[in-house]
Amino acid sequence: MARRDEEHPYRECREEDCPAFPCKVYKEGYRDGYQAGYMDGALAGYAAGYSEGFAAGNAAARAGA
Ligand SMILES: [Zn+2]
Repeated sequence: MARRDEEHPYRECREEDCPAFPCKVYKEGYRDGYQAGYMDGALAGYAAGYSEGFAAGNAAARAGA
């Protein structure tokens, strides 16, 4: 098998309790939006969470209007 790290892109991981460190960091950043010290994962997670939340909020607003 090849190295797991390369086959497991944390940005696409959807396992809630994934033990991979990049996934944990990414998900924490995704949920909390900010956590100093986790530069890559937190920033990437924040950006992804922000745009997804923003899109979902817009969609909900349109659906409810
Ligand atoms: Zn994962």
